[in-house]
Amino acid sequence: MPCGGGRSSPVLRGARHAPLNEPAGRTIGEFELIRRFFVAPSAFRPETVLGIGDDCALLRLAPEQDLAITADTLVSGVHFFPDVDPADLGHKVLAVNLSDLAAAGATPGWVTLCLTLPQADASWLQRFHTGFFGLAGRYRVDLIGGDTTRGPLSITVQAMGCVPAGKALRRSGARPGDLIYLTGTVGSAGLGLKRLQGEFASSDSESLRRLLRPEPRVSVGLALLGLAHACIDVSDGLAADLGHVLVASGVGATIDWDLLPLSPEVRRYVAETGDWRMPLTAGDDYELCFTVPSAQQASVENLSSAWDCSCRRVGIITAGSGLTLMRAGRMEQLPLRGFDHFRTDRAHGTG
Ligand code: ADP
Ligand code: MG
Repeated sequence: MPCGGGRSSPVLRGARHAPLNEPAGRTIGEFELIRRFFVAPSAFRPETVLGIGDDCALLRLAPEQDLAITADTLVSGVHFFPDVDPADLGHKVLAVNLSDLAAAGATPGWVTLCLTLPQADASWLQRFHTGFFGLAGRYRVDLIGGDTTRGPLSITVQAMGCVPAGKALRRSGARPGDLIYLTGTVGSAGLGLKRLQGEFASSDSESLRRLLRPEPRVSVGLALLGLAHACIDVSDGLAADLGHVLVASGVGATIDWDLLPLSPEVRRYVAETGDWRMPLTAGDDYELCFTVPSAQQASVENLSSAWDCSCRRVGIITAGSGLTLMRAGRMEQLPLRGFDHFRTDRAHGTG
């Protein structure tokens, strides 16, 4: 029984909007699926400040504080290779959730852990424990519950954190003229994946570290409260995730290829393969992309000099819609697409 006593399930609520005559066998994309079958027209509960559609949902359970909630699942063979080091997996499944809290500017507090395991291998669990609690300890996050079942390896974490009431960063606040910033680098995790898939040879350890042990930008998210107009974590590729900001905010954007923060190894990959789309479409970066009014440029650049990651201005929000890339003197419209679990034309690593 879900909390909120007597509340009908999201499936039943969503079903009110689903067409009754849907032809059998037609498949749809991940976001159409969520929008059509799970987004409700309104919330039953007054505490629901923000429901589906952002990095975190927001609940106002106390007058001065909102509870930010997010969940992410990692599935063997989809999000990680079955022979992954369980310590990396324990770290990553928590990191990707803390990254969504960071995107909302929330302070991490509590997590639940749902484990589906093919067998209860104690040495595997010991390593998973090391990775998971290593990161949980750094952010002082309490594991408060979950579920354990037997089946194909799949792990879901739900994370909760606090943010001052009404101050959470959202995808929907970008305004024309805002400057677009990006922490860290993009494309490194994508390159790490290409290395593991044997598609690109490299001895650089950075790309594998970025793929296997992403670092959630929690302190950056906190520093952006009251400063950024909009924020998202880049989990599905910059084009897709900045695209979510543009759609949610009703604006467009231009980004400049020459300003994109790329590691030397990603630059080498692009130069050798010509695949310049990879850093814009590959997932797993877990950096923050945020917009600020241009009057705040100096504040952001001063603040960011104290952060433990780089922060680069990469473009500008425009009136209108769509994402334009300025590259080699040409303006190009980019599809707002990254990874979609249900599309066959996945943008990962396309040339
Ligand atoms: P993120 O990449 O930040 O984790 P997603 O792109 O996975 O976010 O999801 C987009 C939005 O849809 C989020 O608000 C998420 O909570 C919501 N969502 C995804 N799947 C479901 C589902 N099955 N039921 C309800 N909400 C969902
Ligand atoms: Mg996110």
